[in-house]
Amino acid sequence: MIFEKELDYTEMMSALYEITRKHSCVRLSYLGNSILSRPIPLITIGDKGAKGAVLYVATHHATESLCTSVMLEFINEYACAIEENKRVSQLNSRLLYETRKFYIIPMLNPDGVEYRRHGIDTQNPLYERIMKITNGDFSAWNANARGVDLNHNYDAYFYEYKTIEKIKEITQGPSKYSGESPESEPEVKALCSFIRYRSDEIKGVISLHSQGEEFYYTSRGMCPKKSEFVARFVARMTGYIPAIPNDTAEYGGLTDWLIKEMDIPAFTLECGRGKNPLPVSQIPSIYLHLHDILFSFPILL
Ligand SMILES: [Zn+2]
Repeated sequence: MIFEKELDYTEMMSALYEITRKHSCVRLSYLGNSILSRPIPLITIGDKGAKGAVLYVATHHATESLCTSVMLEFINEYACAIEENKRVSQLNSRLLYETRKFYIIPMLNPDGVEYRRHGIDTQNPLYERIMKITNGDFSAWNANARGVDLNHNYDAYFYEYKTIEKIKEITQGPSKYSGESPESEPEVKALCSFIRYRSDEIKGVISLHSQGEEFYYTSRGMCPKKSEFVARFVARMTGYIPAIPNDTAEYGGLTDWLIKEMDIPAFTLECGRGKNPLPVSQIPSIYLHLHDILFSFPILL
């Protein structure tokens, strides 16, 4: 494994520059900017003629940035396999490249990751507001730069969740606060616009989180037609247990929005086991669990 460590934004970007410099089959562009103007990288792997696409999104939550390393490992392994014309997960990598497209967002929440890893800069216009919330302790920070939990900011049961927020007294902070309105956060807005624009092309989405070694693919008991079929493979390949979202996890997530509003099969994978942030020693085993589904997902859809 190459990416057996946690990456902050700068380290991730240098790794992506390095990969795209070495491998012409990997293209780097940007989804949009975070609140603090960090460009959010979008990796595309797939030939021009490739028909269906899948989308992988990692690190909505800042304490779960091991998922970024897992995505980079995948990008690197796939790129090497294509160039060396090797099989990956029993698939012909060149054929996969010619027929399917992968869109990968390795770090949706760069500002949150930077807060958690390096704290907040005194030059930051949000400095006082955020220091009041955290007292300088960012060890459990999951949200974006202004304290919105990106995985509660999607347009799915958003206003129902507002009632729960009130009862639980959830406000701007390290996690669980949904924001002022659906897609109020630039990171989520950019991702939703990207998906809406390509809704005919994108056949399925995997969103990587940690932890629990389980996965979600329904929202309020509903799911698109293909999901049940694919879920059986997800379970078999990853060894993760299919679970039903409950409590605050039922509201405003990417998977909820994709299922409810876009009718796109979507899977939230809760990688690894333990307390977030998980130790980096879990990266190889997480990658092993995910390996086959990451390569096979597009051909199941
Ligand atoms: Zn998460």
